[in-house]
Amino acid sequence: MSLTFNILNQTDAGGRRAELILPHRTVQTPVFMPVGTAGTVKAVPQDILESLGAEIILGNTYHLYLRPGHEAINRMGGLHKFISWPRAMLTDSGGFQVFSLSALRKVTDEGVRFRSHLDGSSHFFTPEHSMDVQIALGADIAMAFDECTEYPAERTRAEESLRLTMAWAKRSLVHFRAHQQDVPWLHTLHEDRVPPVSILRPGSDAPSQSLFGIVQGGMYRDLRRESAERLVEMDFDGYAIGGLSVGEPRDLTMEMIAEVLPLLPPGKPRYVMGVGYPDEIEQYARMGVDMMDCVLPTRAARHGLLFTSEGRLNIKGKRYAEDQSPPDPACQCMVCHRYSRAYLRHLMHVGEALSATLNSIHNLAYYLGIMERVRASLHPQAS
Ligand SMILES: [Zn+2]
Repeated sequence: MSLTFNILNQTDAGGRRAELILPHRTVQTPVFMPVGTAGTVKAVPQDILESLGAEIILGNTYHLYLRPGHEAINRMGGLHKFISWPRAMLTDSGGFQVFSLSALRKVTDEGVRFRSHLDGSSHFFTPEHSMDVQIALGADIAMAFDECTEYPAERTRAEESLRLTMAWAKRSLVHFRAHQQDVPWLHTLHEDRVPPVSILRPGSDAPSQSLFGIVQGGMYRDLRRESAERLVEMDFDGYAIGGLSVGEPRDLTMEMIAEVLPLLPPGKPRYVMGVGYPDEIEQYARMGVDMMDCVLPTRAARHGLLFTSEGRLNIKGKRYAEDQSPPDPACQCMVCHRYSRAYLRHLMHVGEALSATLNSIHNLAYYLGIMERVRASLHPQAS
């Protein structure tokens, strides 16, 4: 069996409080997933992520495929074991990075040939290969191989991109279903130091990975609808809405999400990829989005931008040079509990590595805290 999704409560606005039962963790949703690009949520150790309450993190297939290589990770027991992360993980398909980072891409119906952004070496990714790489990495959730349609895109371009993504979704699913039992932890999950709590109910099949399909279609409502309907027919374990937050105005993002959500099966998890700002993730969660991920909290942190209950705070500002107050007076995180704005500014100013760590911890605590409050408000009786 792959995942189980139990909805505990649903609001009139569509927001769902649920639990997503995965092989390595029962994840409380709606959930924000910190992005662990190359086997690390940049600058933040795994034990701190756990203490912040992160239940599921992302790994980027493209980066891990190039270095250290999915076969090496597989030989070491899979990504969970390699990075010592006992909780749930999700890997993307590699598609987004192939299209955004690599050079000299050549896309055909078969797949995409590209050159590594690291050393120029040539690689060929097909839907089947993306599945093999993701199965070798062994995250709890894998993603179908897709082409993220850029913005803006002419209608003919969005149609052609969607045609490719739908064909690749089907091939991803067929190959995944034939090989999903090949995950590196299939026979060792029982022995792991963290018991696979919920998924191994008596009489259940062995736990396995899940595969999500990705709705594309650019900013065209009818293409989005077509994409969603065709993916639902294919019967994935969950559904993502991709190709958003790619430079379009925010009401368009909202419009696309609102168009697609009612078309997705209510009993399966819904994931909006690559969003967003703090107010956005709250808004989308209240509309019925169950999962979101974004590099923003950690990337902004490394540039000195803190998200706080009082708004955005650029810690590099000279006015914080002797400011003894915590970064966010309303925040209970370990950084706000212990350090001052003046100290964080100093670390940033002199280029100390601790700067990225402390700023990232606060921003992640802030994002995870938002979702905790949203969850509580979606199901007051359970909190
Ligand atoms: Zn804080």
